[in-house]
Amino acid sequence: MTKDTPRSTPLMRQYWEAKKAHPDAIMLFRMGDFYETFDEDAKIASEVLGIALTKRSNQGRSGRPGAASYVPLAGFPHHALDAYLHKLLSAGYKVAICEQVEDPKLAKGLVKREVVEVVTPGTAMAEKFLERGENNFLACVYLQGDRAGPFDPSAEGLRAGPSTSLRAGLAFLDNSTGEFFLEELAPGQLAERMLRYRPAEILLAEGQLAEVKPLMGQTEALITPYQDWITEIENATHELTEHFGTTSLKGFGVEEYPLGISAAGAIIHYLYQNSPGPKPHISALRAVQDEQYLGLDSCTVRNMELFQSLATQGTHGTLISVIDRTCTAPGSRLLKQRLRAPLQDRKAIEERLSRVEELVQDGQLREVQDLLRGSSDLERILGRIATGRATPRDVANLAASLEIINGVRQWVRERKSPALNRLVDRLHDTSELTQLIRRALVEDPPISISKGGYIRETYHAELDELRQLARSGKSWIAGLQEKERKRTGIPSLKIGYNNVFGYYLEVTKTHQDKVPEDYIRKQTLVNAERYVTPELKEYEEKVLAAEEKIEALERELFENLQKQVLTQAREVQENARVLAMVDIAAGLADVAVRNNYTRPALEEEPILSLKESRHPVVETLLPLGERFTPNDLEMDPGKSQIHIITGPNMSGKSTFLRQVGLVVVLAQMGSFVPAEKARIGIVDRVFTRVGASDNLAGGESTFLVEMVETANILHNATPRSLVLLDEIGRGTSTYDGLSIAWAVTEYIHQNRQMAAKTLFATHYHELVSLADALPRVKNFNVAVREHGQEVVFLRKIVPGGTDRSYGIHVAQMAGLPPQVIRRAGEILASLSDQDRRSVAIETRTEHKTQIELFEVRAKALRADFEQIDINTLSPIEALNLLDKLKKKHGL
Ligand code: ADP
Ligand code: MG
Repeated sequence: MTKDTPRSTPLMRQYWEAKKAHPDAIMLFRMGDFYETFDEDAKIASEVLGIALTKRSNQGRSGRPGAASYVPLAGFPHHALDAYLHKLLSAGYKVAICEQVEDPKLAKGLVKREVVEVVTPGTAMAEKFLERGENNFLACVYLQGDRAGPFDPSAEGLRAGPSTSLRAGLAFLDNSTGEFFLEELAPGQLAERMLRYRPAEILLAEGQLAEVKPLMGQTEALITPYQDWITEIENATHELTEHFGTTSLKGFGVEEYPLGISAAGAIIHYLYQNSPGPKPHISALRAVQDEQYLGLDSCTVRNMELFQSLATQGTHGTLISVIDRTCTAPGSRLLKQRLRAPLQDRKAIEERLSRVEELVQDGQLREVQDLLRGSSDLERILGRIATGRATPRDVANLAASLEIINGVRQWVRERKSPALNRLVDRLHDTSELTQLIRRALVEDPPISISKGGYIRETYHAELDELRQLARSGKSWIAGLQEKERKRTGIPSLKIGYNNVFGYYLEVTKTHQDKVPEDYIRKQTLVNAERYVTPELKEYEEKVLAAEEKIEALERELFENLQKQVLTQAREVQENARVLAMVDIAAGLADVAVRNNYTRPALEEEPILSLKESRHPVVETLLPLGERFTPNDLEMDPGKSQIHIITGPNMSGKSTFLRQVGLVVVLAQMGSFVPAEKARIGIVDRVFTRVGASDNLAGGESTFLVEMVETANILHNATPRSLVLLDEIGRGTSTYDGLSIAWAVTEYIHQNRQMAAKTLFATHYHELVSLADALPRVKNFNVAVREHGQEVVFLRKIVPGGTDRSYGIHVAQMAGLPPQVIRRAGEILASLSDQDRRSVAIETRTEHKTQIELFEVRAKALRADFEQIDINTLSPIEALNLLDKLKKKHGL
């Protein structure tokens, strides 16, 4: 092929034909040993893959009319497919692989080509593309219901209110592991789900694209439209029952979720459309109920830095980096799922906690972790087996891992540990399968089937015979060299082999005269001649025929072996899941021991009581020699519902808020917590809002967003919710912000339906007056010790409010020049004076009490006067003091 390809050759017509069916995919068009891309695809490929784009200029083509129709072209060798595919997928492209489907040698005319597979970011299985400790989800969303009222997509978490009965069906599939589940929820919750599962690709019904896309929130997923007819419940059910080979979906317990079924059906349809062939690794579908899980809105996930650090976007400094001490990839993936979706069901949480506790107390944790470390990624191996991508090494690893599971079960059975025993009792016996694999495969099988040699001796009689045949033929040939040397008297005579004419006898030119009659000349080299003999050819044929048969037979046996594995796909998957759960329990026990965590007590009452609690991440990151100061918390919606925490900048307010949220999340995902003692009434949702200027998360720095999100909390919180408000109102002018913060607090306090436990960190020390009017509001502050002009942060949360923000002290600590500090003090004093006299805010309590907001100034003045002992003052001292006080208070 020439490098510039005219648009209208037969080959190109074949290409356009294929491309027409997959306009949204990059087409990799197989041509001999290369995959070529054309036209727009070529431009993208050359850029993403860094390969050369060939395109001949039209200039100087002697004005030939067709010249302008030459197509850009970029290609790469076929064996590099994996690496390049990975890059295209990671860049968010779909890739259609168009292969030559007939042998070019036998083709009459143009070789027939077909798209054999479309690989997309959400369905990919290539090991290179997948991250070992991460799921790779494909999501599908389908909306249905009345769009009667105004629907506000910006209100995250908005439950289907009176204005709309719109519901969303949602399904997720990880094609690499076979995990498949569905759910139904209010459209406003979709963004939270996308954040929870972080799909690589989202399927949206074509007709709903415009409506649904904005509901997805911040996602980097590839959006793929699908045709709406698939979601007709009959069609979707048919897709699913066809796939599972069942007559109905009854056995899966998903029947109450028609919208979820629609979405799941669309996923299966899409999967087969992209890549035909059986998919037995997707062996079950389950329904997820929202009430099962602790709701974490996107701001909470980000702000508590569960997975991603706000500062670096990396994993350093995140909760997951501290608590992931799992030993296997499936364990690590499952741990992340648990962290994204902690539980609300008390029994289930206690069961998880008991497993951790048993391992904490066991003392031999190492042993089981060492066992776990030897196991491979069972779920993904099974996925590769199901789709014909597995290697003999994979299957051997599967067997080894199943044996490890046995070992783990044995280990658990040797101890009392009731919860762990309950877990391993769920394991299926797969010993027959393991033995079968062990019998079939050699000890250390290769990672490729191309060379054979992976089926064990004695596994199959015919194979053994063929191998015997091949071996004896080969040894005859090997013996021939000595025999012929003796017969001919040529000491340098050699036997060799090449791909063109097989085995030969090589004789150097100097010995030509000694060559016997029966040698047939085949090839002449510079210094030697090569010959064959009829006898040699006869043996060669035997050997080659046997080897060909051996290869085919090994493949066949290997395929049968994999079929055997797949008959137990479900058992293997369930065992893998149990192993991952043991891994998580061990990992969390490891963390608990290392970092000195305790088992939280779960309470029915909506209280929150923490003794000496710490921030799990900050405590591990403090500079050497610095210690994290633990803090207590006592919350009870009846008495102490809202805590207002004041304190200077950098004193530890945000840290405390996050640590409380993290303790709840850890407890409800089934982990021990960083505290001396923790009693936790199960929380239904954690809401977090961070004042706009404090919100490092980026992209959301407007005050409007802050307010929209605050509105969402006020609409959706319940008495079981935990609300963390960090400096809200900061994104606007002081008095706007202060007033909003004030009103929000009041609302949370006065609105009995929500009555959520709320921690409110604020530098508006004026808010402390709220506690006087609202009985369930309590003041706390971060203790500060003053040494003259200097302040020392004690990081201790103590009862009571503060009356100063210490902003200027902090500026001083930061090293601002003394003149600036002094001047700032003066300005503050005079500013405060003017404003404080004129501002008062009315609280809407039952008694309509008037509260003087800014009486601080008067207090300070009074304090200064109280310290003066008139009896010890000389007149001149009195005069000086008066002058000093006037200056100090800006009078
Ligand atoms: P604020 O929100 O009050 O401005 P932060 O919570 O951001 O303050 O805390 C500032 C820094 O103080 C943190 O980054 C952390 O290093 C340190 N810190 C906070 N709380 C504690 C604590 N309890 N013990 C030790 N260091 C702490
Ligand atoms: Mg802060």
